[in-house]
Amino acid sequence: MGRPGLRLTQPAPLFASVAVVAVTLALMPWAGRQLGSGLGFLPMTLSAAACFDILSAWLLAGNFLDTGDRRFLVMACAYLWSLLLMGAYAFAFPGIVSSHPPLAVTVSMAPYMFVCWHAGFPVLLGAAWGPWLGPNAVETVHPKRRRLLTGAAGATIAVGVTTIAALAANARRLPVLIHGLDTTQLARVTGPVGLPLVLISLVFCARGIRGTTGPERWAVVAIVVCLCDLIITYDSHFRYSLGWYAGRTLGMLSAGVVLAAMLASFRRLKATAEFDAAYDHLTGLPNRRSAQDSLTAMFARGRRMQTALALIAFDLDFFKRINDEYGHAAGDAVLRAVGLAVRTAIRPSDVIARIGGEEFLVLLPDATDDDACIVAQRLRTALRTLDFIGPDIVVTASFGVARMQDSDMDAEQLLQRADRALYQAKATGRDRVVVAPAVPVLAPFLAHAAPTRLS
Ligand code: GH3
Ligand code: MG
Ligand code: MG
Repeated sequence: MGRPGLRLTQPAPLFASVAVVAVTLALMPWAGRQLGSGLGFLPMTLSAAACFDILSAWLLAGNFLDTGDRRFLVMACAYLWSLLLMGAYAFAFPGIVSSHPPLAVTVSMAPYMFVCWHAGFPVLLGAAWGPWLGPNAVETVHPKRRRLLTGAAGATIAVGVTTIAALAANARRLPVLIHGLDTTQLARVTGPVGLPLVLISLVFCARGIRGTTGPERWAVVAIVVCLCDLIITYDSHFRYSLGWYAGRTLGMLSAGVVLAAMLASFRRLKATAEFDAAYDHLTGLPNRRSAQDSLTAMFARGRRMQTALALIAFDLDFFKRINDEYGHAAGDAVLRAVGLAVRTAIRPSDVIARIGGEEFLVLLPDATDDDACIVAQRLRTALRTLDFIGPDIVVTASFGVARMQDSDMDAEQLLQRADRALYQAKATGRDRVVVAPAVPVLAPFLAHAAPTRLS
């Protein structure tokens, strides 16, 4: 077995990173080509990135409060930093929000904000995955989480605001980064610091995410996108060139990558939660809750359309013995095989559900008493002849059958009658089918006549 880092454990983020790098490299030969200034482009991409930053910071802070994992906290701070410096960039960029101080002091102010934004954001993302936070979540105890979040957010805002204020205050003393539209100086002055910082962050992040599966591992793609943004911006040499536009687009994508991964993960979690709420994991059959919903719907339809509805409730006989003699895994295999056998023995429109440990319910819309008895007998034979673990395991079950009658006030009453017939089958020797007796209209609560035994 290879080392975890050498195995392809993160194929999706890896492919996405390779795709972004490939697109950036493909654009580089034309990076300097002038496209002219599109007035709406920058406000649009910056607004989108600001929304992505706010949502990512909020979701990551929530994840930290829920789990105590400090990596989420540091990542939330990265997005907060991105939001602050990007806001400053918008205020410093001539003609976007304002072309006047306090932030638009010189034309180089926007490039300085840009570099601080593009260095600080990946550095914080890389720091979140650095070895100092441990290979696993460093769990912060619950009462401390809110205080830590407030402290970390406060510190990020303080450092961000101080950085912006210091740059604005010293604007005229700082080297000029842009002449007209020419940004060559930007690459020369800030590249030797910015690029290594982003590369080191990328290494820390790539090492840190090994073996993780959560959407937060897409932080590595956010850093790659950020790196590509810097490289193509440096390479373009001019504002409003193709490379400049590509860089701003990548900046927006970089803010949205982790958010998109988190939303996709929520969608998957929702689907899993919905499945778990409705289906039994062992057999893959609908569970009690979903059987009750189907029964209520079928009961209402039967009443409205004056159609028949029958239920078969059955419980495996002496199932505990199978567990005791062959082990729980064998018991589980029996339950799965029973589910499958019943599913294949009934119509697609019928419903089979596992409503308890070794208790099942079959809903037969449009079935009369006789139809339901025939099906129940067929199921009894099918179970008896199951041959899956060994010839010495014979599975039998006791069946209770009930048909919807006018006296049934609701689906629950119909189910209770099927249940009573099932326990009658148990009480009278098991491995048999008992039909619930008809109950006179207006007398549903009266004592029942003896159920009919059919085998
Ligand atoms: P009876 O004929 O009276 O129904 O006897 P029984 O042994 O089938 O009924 P009992 O209620 O005594 O035991 C039911 C057993 O079903 C006990 C429990 O361990 C087992 N069981 C419930 N759920 C599962 C499951 O998911 N897997 C396995 N293997 N066993 C289960
Ligand atoms: Mg049983
Ligand atoms: Mg039982």
